[in-house]
Amino acid sequence: MMLHNKSRWLPQDYFSFGAISLLLVTVALSSWFISRHGISLRIQAQLEELQQQSALAAATVSQDLQQGRRQVEDIAQALASLSSLQAFLNNPRRLAPLQADLDNLGSIFGLDGIWLIGRQGKIMVQSPVGQSPPALDHFAASRQPVHRFILEPEQQQARFYYATPLGDTGTAVLLVRAAVDGISRRAYRVELLVTDPEGMVALADNPEWLLHTFNGSTAPPSFAPESREDNPAIPISQSPLLPEVLLLGPHQKPVLLASHATENGDYRVYALADAAPIYHLARKKDNLTAIITLAATGSLWGGLLTILTLKRNRRHRLAFSKANDELVRLNQQLKQLATTDALTRCPNRRAAEARLQYELANLQRYHHPFCIVMVDIDHFKHINDQHGHDIGDKVLRHFAHTGRQAIRDTDVLARIGGEEFLLILPDTDHQQGLHLARRLLDTISATPLYLADRTIGISFSGGLTEARKTDNTNDLLVRADRALYRAKEKGRCRICSENLVMDQSVAVG
Ligand code: GH3
Ligand code: MG
Ligand code: MG
Repeated sequence: MMLHNKSRWLPQDYFSFGAISLLLVTVALSSWFISRHGISLRIQAQLEELQQQSALAAATVSQDLQQGRRQVEDIAQALASLSSLQAFLNNPRRLAPLQADLDNLGSIFGLDGIWLIGRQGKIMVQSPVGQSPPALDHFAASRQPVHRFILEPEQQQARFYYATPLGDTGTAVLLVRAAVDGISRRAYRVELLVTDPEGMVALADNPEWLLHTFNGSTAPPSFAPESREDNPAIPISQSPLLPEVLLLGPHQKPVLLASHATENGDYRVYALADAAPIYHLARKKDNLTAIITLAATGSLWGGLLTILTLKRNRRHRLAFSKANDELVRLNQQLKQLATTDALTRCPNRRAAEARLQYELANLQRYHHPFCIVMVDIDHFKHINDQHGHDIGDKVLRHFAHTGRQAIRDTDVLARIGGEEFLLILPDTDHQQGLHLARRLLDTISATPLYLADRTIGISFSGGLTEARKTDNTNDLLVRADRALYRAKEKGRCRICSENLVMDQSVAVG
């Protein structure tokens, strides 16, 4: 019963388990979404701020460079219109005034070098003396004004060269060189680099990148420029976590890139903003996702295993309960078989003796009197012989059935031999016992077995005795047996007690 109740309650365990699991998963998923969303918003805000900052830095530096370039062009134009220069071109022997003008003006305007170059690439005049510019032939051949950043290997920053053909005939070229103001813009927290038209880094905050090629474009990035000989490409790759962030250099420094080209596109300024904090956030978000995914997967598996275990336990409990019920049933059956007579369904001799011991104990401890009557069916052999063994069995069953109905619920009628029975009468003294036994004899005698073709009358002889405190089971049975013997002797169909004999004249049949 208990087990059945438990299994009835089991489904509710599933429900509460399911509800708690669902609640936990909902809370976990909500907090995951909220924190993920919060981190995404922070990343977005920081990205925007950094993009604005780097774009602004690139534009500012680009404008500053253009302004510096225009200044140098203006100076070069002013030098080109010097009268001493015109005089020299007309008469190359008039070098001294020109040399003096160039030395003087060069130092006033902060120029790095001034050259007057002939068309064949011959340097006609130079200030200061003793330096020769790179790409001399290139400048000498130019028909239009040319400006270029050139980074000489021993220099840490590129210098600006501007060549302008002189005079209408263009017989010579005036080439000036100026150092470029530093491009660093510390206020913007960005690293800057400037590439020439061929994509080579000519100016850079980080001198490490000078003479490297850099073909950065913001989106989509294709950072594998054709690396020229001697000019390795700056290693840069797209970050797997955030497409906006690029990983720069061998240490994979996270940066955000913005670029700005000059009006005529001869160089490009790149601003590389430090995106480490954003990248850190993105990694945190990624880790959070991984943890939540792991936790969710773990919870699901855990839940599944718990449900399976609960189910298995329930199955086991049910199987155990079934087996237990079966065992109890078999035990009861066994006990009944061990204590019941199969033919008459009366308690057998073993049960009768156990009951006698119990009643004797009651008598000794609580002084409850009781009687027993040894009962033997009269002439039973004759019944068997006359009607057959089967009918004999029916007579025995009939006797037991009639006898059980005639006695009280508390009395016991046990079959202790072939046609011998023992009547146990608890809480009954000698007198009451005689009365009860006589009544039973009357009933049995008055209730023959009616069969289809015959009627069989039954009587019995009984030996009664009242139990004494000093008795044991055997004493009792022996006394009752003696009384029975006397009853048989006296002519049967009567009850004899151990002291007095009661004749009972009841007609049989
Ligand atoms: P008495 O009046 O002196 O008791 O005579 P009786 O014939 O009843 O006594 P006896 O002891 O001579 O015979 C008892 C018979 O009961 C012998 C036996 O075959 C028969 N009997 C014993 N057990 C069973 C049984 O289970 N079924 C049937 N049909 N007969 C049984
Ligand atoms: Mg007998
Ligand atoms: Mg008999």
